[in-house]
Amino acid sequence: MKRFETIAIHAGQEPDPTTGAVVTPIYATSTYAQEAPGTFAYEYSRTDNPTRTALQTALAELEGAGAGGGAVATASGMAATALMGYLLKPGDHIVIPNDAYGGTYRFIARVLGEQGIAWTVVDQTDLEAVAAALRPETRLVWAETPTNPLLRVVDIEALAVIAGTGNARLLVDNTFATAYLQQPLSLGADVSLYSTTKYVGGHSDVVGGALVTADGELLEQLRFFQNAAGPVPGPFDAYLTLRGLKTLAIRMDRHCENAEQIARFLVDHPAVGDVYYPGLESHPQHELAARQMSGFGGMISFRTRAGPDVAEKVVAKTELFFLAESLGGVESLVEVPALMTHMSVAGTDLEVPPDLVRLSVGIEHVDDLIADLDQALSG
Ligand SMILES: *Cc1c(COP(=O)(O)O)cnc(C)c1O
Repeated sequence: MKRFETIAIHAGQEPDPTTGAVVTPIYATSTYAQEAPGTFAYEYSRTDNPTRTALQTALAELEGAGAGGGAVATASGMAATALMGYLLKPGDHIVIPNDAYGGTYRFIARVLGEQGIAWTVVDQTDLEAVAAALRPETRLVWAETPTNPLLRVVDIEALAVIAGTGNARLLVDNTFATAYLQQPLSLGADVSLYSTTKYVGGHSDVVGGALVTADGELLEQLRFFQNAAGPVPGPFDAYLTLRGLKTLAIRMDRHCENAEQIARFLVDHPAVGDVYYPGLESHPQHELAARQMSGFGGMISFRTRAGPDVAEKVVAKTELFFLAESLGGVESLVEVPALMTHMSVAGTDLEVPPDLVRLSVGIEHVDDLIADLDQALSG
């Protein structure tokens, strides 16, 4: 069994058989010539495209999805979420977390909810509460860990056991950790979801998503929905995502190192209140994170001591940390979730504190990043 770094560079990415090109070509074609009707490796690019196949093969192998399993690449993280939605019927029920990507909540509440699918919001760090929320008609436990934006960590293994006692599948949104730091399928999850827009792509230049599963039956259903509904990435997007994937491991190492130092700097800063980072010993699920993840990631949230106005001033004053939505790129970003990424959860159980600042720590030199935060926080 090859290691992560090797799989990321080689799986599905053998030299091109016709030219020997070492980089998977961008197969910019919608259709493929057939020798006789129905004799084809590839038929039509909504159904399959070689550049997308390479990406799917690599993503599946990185999570050990096995011979029966695989990955389905989608046009965005939300398109992956939407594909999961096609598995549900009116009357079905989902358990969702009380801290999650705002778009996930919006899709479940405003799209699936409108179609007669019920949901219950639960603090998934409380396993008894998750078990109590399960109903006979619960088909899906939707988890995210670490969560966006409060960096809570939930126990994937325990959630898999709880979901398994009912008739529910466990999905883990693994966007923050990536398969490099956390392997949901090996911990018992049925499916991992990614916004590959974030760390997997890693360069803030492409939008994409993916679902990875070891369950052959689920994979067949997802592939059917991928082709039937059509939310596929184009070959250029698949190429950019693959290009990013090759350096995921070394980027993630640096994201983790930088974030840990910045989290400790923030804890000691007089203008900063609570700091949320799973790598801090003071984090409520630090031990779980240390067991479940091989690193603590590049995302940090913190509260300002002086309230929301100060949060807005701080994010306007940073120079290296660009004030922007999204995360997981090589460049550092800062935002105020309540006013930006999490506007759509205002007034719900997922509402976030107004003075919360979220950092996506990039891979610049950490001393420069700390100096930038220091000047923004002082004065
Ligand atoms: C960004 C994000 C998504 C949605 O992905 P898109 O690529 O923006 O559609 C889903 N989950 C998490 C945790 C995210 O950060």
